Amino acid sequence: MSTLRFKMVEAAFGKKPSPVDVPGKRPSDYFGMYVFNREKMFKYLPADVYAKLINVIDTGSALDSSIADEVAAGMKKWAVEMGVTHYTHWFAPLTEGTAEKHDSFIEHDGKGGVIEEFTGKLLVQQEPDASSFPNGGIRNTFEARGYSAWDPSSPAFIVDDTLCIPTIFIAYTGESLDYKAPLLKALRAVDKAATDVCHYFNPDVKKVYAYLGWEQEYFLVDEGLYAARPDLLLTGRTLMGHDSAKNQQLEDHYFGAIPTRVAAFMKELEIEALKLGIPVKTRHNEVAPNQFELAPVYEECNLANDHNMLIMSLMRKIARNHGFRVLLHEKPFKGVNGSGKHNNWSLGTDTGLALMSPGKDFSGNLRFITFVVNTLMAVYKHNGLLKASIISASNAHRLGANEAPPAIISSFLGSQLSAVLKHISESEPENLQSIGGKKGMKLDIPQIPEILVDNTDRNRTSPFAFTGNRFEFRAVGSEANCASAMIVLNSALAEQLKEFKSVVDERIAAGEEKFSAILGVIREYIKICEPIRFDGNGYSDEWKAEAMRRGLDCETSAPLIYDNYLTDESVNMFESTGVMTRKELEARNEVKWETYTKKIQIEARVLGDLALNHIVPVATKYQSSLIDNVYKMHEIFPAEKADALTLRNVELIEAIASHTAFIKEHVDAMVEARKVANRITDEREKAVAYHDTVFPCLDEIRYHIDKLELIVDDRMWTLPKYRELLFIR
Ligand code: ADP
Ligand code: MG
Repeated sequence: MSTLRFKMVEAAFGKKPSPVDVPGKRPSDYFGMYVFNREKMFKYLPADVYAKLINVIDTGSALDSSIADEVAAGMKKWAVEMGVTHYTHWFAPLTEGTAEKHDSFIEHDGKGGVIEEFTGKLLVQQEPDASSFPNGGIRNTFEARGYSAWDPSSPAFIVDDTLCIPTIFIAYTGESLDYKAPLLKALRAVDKAATDVCHYFNPDVKKVYAYLGWEQEYFLVDEGLYAARPDLLLTGRTLMGHDSAKNQQLEDHYFGAIPTRVAAFMKELEIEALKLGIPVKTRHNEVAPNQFELAPVYEECNLANDHNMLIMSLMRKIARNHGFRVLLHEKPFKGVNGSGKHNNWSLGTDTGLALMSPGKDFSGNLRFITFVVNTLMAVYKHNGLLKASIISASNAHRLGANEAPPAIISSFLGSQLSAVLKHISESEPENLQSIGGKKGMKLDIPQIPEILVDNTDRNRTSPFAFTGNRFEFRAVGSEANCASAMIVLNSALAEQLKEFKSVVDERIAAGEEKFSAILGVIREYIKICEPIRFDGNGYSDEWKAEAMRRGLDCETSAPLIYDNYLTDESVNMFESTGVMTRKELEARNEVKWETYTKKIQIEARVLGDLALNHIVPVATKYQSSLIDNVYKMHEIFPAEKADALTLRNVELIEAIASHTAFIKEHVDAMVEARKVANRITDEREKAVAYHDTVFPCLDEIRYHIDKLELIVDDRMWTLPKYRELLFIR
């Protein structure tokens, strides 16, 4: 009998919340205590070094290598005082997580002892043995050199006994092998382009920041039950499991009371996050049972992104202190909502202007409209690419399932802003002599309230919604590195703003008044990008047909969606903004296809194993007990009566036989499909084969396993069921 499963379920029910240490009275007492922030830089660095470093951070200017030694010494002093013994360059290679290799500060002191050492050279650059990180063929193993380089704009921090230094990771030949390097380039590009456009309105602007506020959704499961589910353990999702009779249909979980064991986990997570300077603010239950959300206050995009990477690893760690495992997979359970990571994104200036918020006067409103409309243009032109930036083998399960934005990018503006754009594009141009005597058009912008309250219930179905002072990119997956989406969005907008400026400048050069020229171009843009705007129900089938008519990218196969990175428009966009070269894009796509293949390959193997050595044996055993029963019934009853009494069991015996036969046949077929796909050498073709021929087998096999779960004696079933995984805290 399945004693393990029952033991696990019992244990999970009996668990009490773990105690949590609260370090200080108020979060402000311990916020950032593990971060080498400005306060500590000031304290631990000589005044001139501090000033130079702050200048590098604020302006993005190149680091003066002469200060590196002193910065390193200051950092080490602080870290050693905090009990730190090791340091690491902390970076985000092209996998899902972060990478680190810890070295201790210890060096020989020349007198037979050791001293703690940390030099500027070690701070600024290192050469991790990089041959085993994904690189898409940029580095062959014989020249497996890559290096990590310090990013001073994201402060160093302490985890356990280690000083972590955020770095980029690039090949010796200069190509990015990570997410941070291109993100920093994209942020620089959008800063430059947006600052130039700001100068039409506010000549004193020196820098434009992109801001990111992510909302991290996740599931928790009891770790005992998790351990009894090899599919969760190895693939991050359940590859089988019949719907629980109750799941989210009563809508009783969303914003409901947080269970005490979970509340203890959240409390500890928040305390640890605050110590690391992550300004966590919001926590609540999500729609699905055992699903939750955590969101900080938004920050500058690069820092926000590092904080998201950091919080994902913190969550994994702290969940275990509370007897949980955290599931960041986009779709761990079939039939209930999956998890996303809304990316709230906006731009703001060093002078404190919020560029995605209406201004107070005509110029401020035109500036607002300029940035919104150029964003829509960028999203329209690169809608396929934006989708490519968020698709993955795991997020593909969530997109287009009835809970998340469809695999089509569109933008929702709300009725107020839509009305403003309509008004602008429809008002009649006319010659206007009054502005400096130059020709132009009527400068007619309707009043825009400073706070756009009307968001018509915010249309939850829209993948890229305007939400009053920002856009919210909702298609991003819960497990993803947000940088992928942020690289595309910011560089696409940079390209668009550059183009906008050149067209406006041409009109001005031809004698048109500045605001009139801007408005003229905006009016054209509003018409051009019309197809990206959609305020209706993004989950409906009508929208899919309509989006196709509008020429939006409607591809649903992840390996084919990745092709968007290599179209001429995309390559031009990335190259003209200096964010990535064709060579880098090609290499990164190789990694994406390879990763896709591996993910499906692992799922197929795990499902095949479980089907043949967990499911079929248990079903067969139960079937034998039924057969036994039928025989014995015939022994004690006359044939006719026994036939009647065992009719139902005979039906079950047949049903089990047909389900197990199907499973065995299809596992064989899946293995065969894998063999065929594995022979393909081209990474793209291989990923396509996995998508088209292997992936569909998973659901077919699962269907029959889930049927067996309903038939087989509950006592015999070895794998924890959905009703157990989803409802125990
Ligand atoms: P929701 O109603 O979508 O759950 P929240 O109030 O939880 O929204 O906020 C979501 C995230 O959006 C938070 O991280 C918040 O700081 C962020 N946010 C708010 N304003 C902006 C902005 N102007 N730019 C970027 N992010 C923002
Ligand atoms: Mg949101």
